[in-house]
Amino acid sequence: MSRSVIDAEMLDLFRAELALCKVKPGEIVAVLSGGTDRADYAQAFMVAAQSLGATALQVNVPTYGLAKAAGVQGRHPLVGNQPAIDLLKRADMVIDLLGLLFSKEQLEIQAAGTRILRVMEPLHVLKQMFPTADLARRTELSRTMLQSAREMHITRAGGTDIRYRLSQYPVLSEYGYTDEPGRWDHWPSGFAFTQGSDGEIDGTVVLMPGDILTAFKRYIQAPVTLRIEAGMIVALEGEGMDAVLIREYIDSFGDPRGWAVSHIGWGSNEKAAWHHIAASRDPLGEHVMNALSFYGNVLFSTGPNSELGGSNDTPCHLDIPLRGCSLWLDGRQVLDRGEFTLPELRAPGR
Ligand code: FE
Repeated sequence: MSRSVIDAEMLDLFRAELALCKVKPGEIVAVLSGGTDRADYAQAFMVAAQSLGATALQVNVPTYGLAKAAGVQGRHPLVGNQPAIDLLKRADMVIDLLGLLFSKEQLEIQAAGTRILRVMEPLHVLKQMFPTADLARRTELSRTMLQSAREMHITRAGGTDIRYRLSQYPVLSEYGYTDEPGRWDHWPSGFAFTQGSDGEIDGTVVLMPGDILTAFKRYIQAPVTLRIEAGMIVALEGEGMDAVLIREYIDSFGDPRGWAVSHIGWGSNEKAAWHHIAASRDPLGEHVMNALSFYGNVLFSTGPNSELGGSNDTPCHLDIPLRGCSLWLDGRQVLDRGEFTLPELRAPGR
């Protein structure tokens, strides 16, 4: 007889996370996994759920032939597997170790009232960025502020000056746990974002050294100027390697919709580290939640808007967290060179 070995620290951390998600006796918690990936997480989550009185089970699907290219969103191993989807819809909560990320399968499961928590990062990052109720409060406040705003204006020394007209699209928040029926979140995280209205984003974004090309786990080394008209990048200028890299990458998709401007928002997690990629011993083995979530970043992005209900579903997506920006909503300043101006958005001690 074989027995599985579960890391005690992992179990403690997962139990604390599921407690934040208000997992309780009588609930069904399903862990969705692919192949043998993250088998340790699957076992530990099931035992953690059980210890909180829930009924736990694992839905495992094959991943053969579905290797994912970096930065490309779209297909995942649950596509076409309706029995697995039906089972997940019967759960109160799904731990998603696959990465369904805004697919129609994910939306179908959420519509059944099932809350979903995506988990991708290695254990030390899950621990480092562990969420708090105060992070949730500030991120939800960010969401409601974005929801009622009509215009976002972003500037930065070096030439960035861009305006997004808002109101057409909803706002999403991610703070690292979820305790409401049908709500999706990603552990760990910490940001809120929306999308400019169709054709109503105009200005210039100058990517500066230290901004992050998350798809490549690389920091910008030399300025890249993006000229944006009616929601599309119409010119890309820059002398360095980064300009070449971005142009070649977007062109490689052969899809002009890859030049669209995508979601916009800001990061709120004071535990997330801007320098994470530089300091990591294994940056390619890790996900990019530090980069997306670090406190006071402006999360600029290019490509699809289908995440928020738009019609552009190009698989060419670049998330580019910007440092040190100033940002206004309807003329009210939210960020001053990367620092929150409103006390209610500031992390404890900041
Ligand atoms: Fe994105």
